[in-house]
Amino acid sequence: MVETVESLISVDQCRRCGACIVACPVKAVSLEEYHAKVKGCTACSSRSKGLCVEACPVIADYDKLEMRVFGRLRERSEGFGVYRQVFKAISLHPKLRQEAYSGGTTSALTYAALSSGFVDAAIICSWGDGEPWRPGPRIIRDPKDVVFGLGSKYFPSPNLRALGELGTAKRVLFVGLPCHVTALRKMQYSDNRALRKLTKKIRVVIGTFCGIPAMLTAESFAKHITERGVPLDKITRVTTACTSLLQGIRTYRVQTTAGHIDFPILFLLRDLEKERLRCDENCFDYSSDLADISVGGTIPPELPPRYVSNALFVRTQVGEELVNLACNSRLLHVRKMGSLFLRGLRLFPPYWRKRSRYRRYREEKDSRQRLKTLIG
Ligand SMILES: Cc1cc2nc3c(=O)[nH]c(=O)nc-3n(C[C@H](O)[C@H](O)[C@H](O)COP(=O)(O)OP(=O)(O)OC[C@H]3O[C@@H](n4cnc5c(N)ncnc54)[C@H](O)[C@@H]3O)c2cc1C
Repeated sequence: MVETVESLISVDQCRRCGACIVACPVKAVSLEEYHAKVKGCTACSSRSKGLCVEACPVIADYDKLEMRVFGRLRERSEGFGVYRQVFKAISLHPKLRQEAYSGGTTSALTYAALSSGFVDAAIICSWGDGEPWRPGPRIIRDPKDVVFGLGSKYFPSPNLRALGELGTAKRVLFVGLPCHVTALRKMQYSDNRALRKLTKKIRVVIGTFCGIPAMLTAESFAKHITERGVPLDKITRVTTACTSLLQGIRTYRVQTTAGHIDFPILFLLRDLEKERLRCDENCFDYSSDLADISVGGTIPPELPPRYVSNALFVRTQVGEELVNLACNSRLLHVRKMGSLFLRGLRLFPPYWRKRSRYRRYREEKDSRQRLKTLIG
């Protein structure tokens, strides 16, 4: 166990990216205080000192985790990590499909798992009650509540905090971004008993794709839009929209009782340069490569619904069981993804940005290994 968070925060390892906000497994990091404090966490109680650092996805030994989850490291050609099968998938539940980010596959899998007893609770990310601009974790037990998770919330959500609040649940499904998934795996295989205990109930992990170049905390965003005359209490929904076919020109679309206002993400990130979380600069995981199941979009979700589907990577046995269950319950439709289509997925700029970062990580690791062998 580490001595203090402060001592670790000051060491070179800490990239000051704010990933601890999403990874922190206890109520130790306060999103509100993030910028007021040392650009990161110092808000730990003495009991839980250092847990967020131990769970930090950025300083994870990724290879070690990959070995633990899959029993092998990925080959160089495995750009989407280790997986057993890859499909194009779509939810057969009309409501889920309509309001989902793209095909509604994540929500359909969660629905199937809860309704069949595969799990008795799920941790998803939903907008806060009465605060439809602040995402956070929500523990759901009723399959109907998957609607709370529908759609992507482009803000960091401290999903792992819900791990300590599972009560009587015995088997739990977890949905998160690549950083959540890495942090969760790190906790599952940690030497720290407290962290392992928090993850004991997790049965299956669904990770979504994430290629956002940087993120704002919901608080920074709220402050910014309030300054531009949008009252927080008039917000009914925050979604994202694409105002150009270029994925980069995406906007936060703030729906209010009086209509909607668009805030282009790139301009916001530029204007709030100092406040943004540089999560992407430190992350090479585009497709939640340590999850049991990974789900991403195949095309911008603004295209006509008939083209929209999800890319579904099934990585482990438990992942396979859940996908079969969802298909047999007629909640999900899957079709094998052809190699040409899979190659097409690699054309997305967020994919190759993270891919080249992974290559650098690999090269550094390999050269350190070679050096060690030489010296040894
Ligand atoms: C920050 C961010 C960046 C993304 N970048 C990409 C990208 O580069 N390429 C791409 O293809 N897709 C991206 N996505 C979208 C993501 O891939 C979709 O969530 C995924 O395709 C699932 O689609 P779906 O229709 O199955 O989702 P739905 O059925 O609508 O379910 C969405 C699920 O995502 C979870 N979720 C939503 N927001 C968050 C959040 N902030 N933190 C944790 N969990 C959350 C919800 O709990 C829910 O279970 C991004 C999403 C986010 C939040």
